[in-house]
Amino acid sequence: MRILVIEDEKKVAKFIKQALEEERYIVETAADGHIGLELAVNNHFDAILLDIMLPGIDGFEVLQKLRASNIATPVIMLTARNTMEDKISGLDMGADDYLPKPFSFDELAARLRAILRRSSTEKTTKLQCHDLVLDTVSHIAIKKGKEIELTTKEYALLEYLMRNKNRILSRSTITQHVWKHNFDPDSNIIDVYIKRIRSKVDGENEKPMIQSVRGVGYRLRDVVNTTV
Ligand code: CA
Repeated sequence: MRILVIEDEKKVAKFIKQALEEERYIVETAADGHIGLELAVNNHFDAILLDIMLPGIDGFEVLQKLRASNIATPVIMLTARNTMEDKISGLDMGADDYLPKPFSFDELAARLRAILRRSSTEKTTKLQCHDLVLDTVSHIAIKKGKEIELTTKEYALLEYLMRNKNRILSRSTITQHVWKHNFDPDSNIIDVYIKRIRSKVDGENEKPMIQSVRGVGYRLRDVVNTTV
């Protein structure tokens, strides 16, 4: 899942980024309202954490412009200004949640999971594809009762495939959702990661769960694995 953090306080931005990366999110940051808005308009994010007091344009304006551009990405407003008025304005302008500073990271993470669930068709915290289960809270993948060790990137890619199981996903779609925006589209990195995931999730004598679709991309199939 890709998260955009628009926050000008360097320490806060760095702390949120590191903590979210430990939770296996792909995180990009912007320290200015204009830059944040541009990133949000031109890229896909699953959620945006938006500070209110920002250089350039403030968080309210960023939010207004986002919604005016028909971008419905869930937004959590982060702010030191915890007045009721601010809270109401933010929510009325289309924010999905509001978190006053200082906040605990655990609370931020839980609220983020909640808004991601709301915007997804998956309402549970566990994603399942045949005998593979992904726990989106603990970030653990389990197959046939055994935990599979995944790196952050492998987890992010597998989670995206599982959320879109049985759909053919082009390399560029995968890139937009799982890699950072400055990613080189000509690189074969997606293929490299798919190979690594396959080596971990496919059992011996099983058909690959992730199917290559020639000339297009990949599809995670939710079918009973049969012996090859
Ligand atoms: Ca600020």
